[in-house]
Amino acid sequence: MFERKSAPYLFHGQTTSLCDQCLAPVPAKIVIEGNLVYYLKRCRTHGVRKALISTDAAYWKRTLDWLKPGDRPETAQTRIDLGCPYDCGLCPDHEQHSCLALIEVNEHCNLTCPVCFAGSSPQHTGTRTLAEIERMLDALVASEKEPDLLQISGGEPTLHPEILTILRMAKARPIRHLMLNTNGLRIARDRDFVRELSTLKPGFEVYLQFDSLRPEVHKTLRGADLTRIRQQALENLEAEGISTTLVATIRKGLNDDEVGAIIDHALEWPCVRGVTFQPVQDAGRNEGFEANSHRALLSDIRRAVIEADNPFGEADMIPLPCNPESISIGYALRRGRQLAPITGMMPRETLVDVLPNTVTFERYPGLRQRIFDFFSLSSGECNAPDRLEALLCCLPEVQVPADIGYTDLFRIAIVEFLDPHNFCLSRVKRSCVHFVTPEGKIVPFDTYNLFYRDAEAKARRAASLAARVVQMGG
Ligand code: SF4
Ligand code: SF4
Repeated sequence: MFERKSAPYLFHGQTTSLCDQCLAPVPAKIVIEGNLVYYLKRCRTHGVRKALISTDAAYWKRTLDWLKPGDRPETAQTRIDLGCPYDCGLCPDHEQHSCLALIEVNEHCNLTCPVCFAGSSPQHTGTRTLAEIERMLDALVASEKEPDLLQISGGEPTLHPEILTILRMAKARPIRHLMLNTNGLRIARDRDFVRELSTLKPGFEVYLQFDSLRPEVHKTLRGADLTRIRQQALENLEAEGISTTLVATIRKGLNDDEVGAIIDHALEWPCVRGVTFQPVQDAGRNEGFEANSHRALLSDIRRAVIEADNPFGEADMIPLPCNPESISIGYALRRGRQLAPITGMMPRETLVDVLPNTVTFERYPGLRQRIFDFFSLSSGECNAPDRLEALLCCLPEVQVPADIGYTDLFRIAIVEFLDPHNFCLSRVKRSCVHFVTPEGKIVPFDTYNLFYRDAEAKARRAASLAARVVQMGG
């Protein structure tokens, strides 16, 4: 009897990715094998290449149920001309505004991290003037009107001679939440500087590089053992009560076994509001290293969070509705070292509601009970509810008793950026983490490092465009 040949995978759909050799946009089949999701990319020049995208097919499929209509920026900075991803600016075809914007104030750094996507080092001396930074801030406000979250970054931004002025310039604008991205060296060594930073509260937070508790991991990712620096930086931030997020860059086989330990460590510090995990992006000084074998994926880190000894479970680490395939997030109430996750207690429909919404906890008795039990509040009516704003704009505000605030929350975020390996045209159009360029353009994190950051990236863009012509048979 004739037997049909069945495909060795489930064909789930199709996207456009990039050939990781010539960077041409190429068709990519999205296929599922067991619990693994791959792109099968077909390049006319380099043949079929297979890229692992997720190790949790069930979660990956669910992410699309969390999509909500994107919030558009106020203005576009470029025209649609060559097509995505060559028109960044943002162009009118981009589907999401800047939930999180970054302004790089220098390229100078006191470290030379092997994984630096900006390629910064002590030899790089470039520093932006206050006038340039002012223009970048104004471009962001023009695009967003009231930006939700701005990170001042570099290089190492604390080395900018006018860093405090820059932070005050940002505070003087209608920006809801301001963060300083830092490797922590100056924070550890300069108490007077930390005291000055504390004057920027509230609405100010330090985004502190914190990849590991092991010296050998620091040496691999950062080129130096930073264990004591991290400890001293946290002591200084704690002394001034400055809200802090720990940011861990994760590489498979190096520090992916420390996800639980980093969360535990974060809970030792009352000033720490959460941990952000980022798989290493194949960009900058690291370019070419993160092939399949070294690559930590969002799904791997999410699984590690869930399996670690903490109360975050499967339902608590949800896809972020504005960019669900690239960001997973979980919020918990926090009291000391104790956590009570709340994200899983709200129905998906509430979290993807298109209206700017407030969750009135009266509507969700389970959530209400958890808040009251956790904080040992009287279970009587709450007469003076307040709004607990989620840091990320596409999540609703939660109405809570007035004495509960940002310091009573703990957040875990996993943010996976795109590079030639996992590039996907749909995902990049939904990107909500954006750089502001000195020319006043707003460029997604993913395409900025690839095609726009510097002369090298612009040469890559030109090569990609030339390779696109070859793909089209030109
Ligand atoms: S990534 Fe966004 S801004 Fe860039 S070209 Fe594509 S749609 Fe336009
Ligand atoms: S990753 Fe940060 S700390 Fe490391 S070299 Fe780059 S800018 Fe400096």
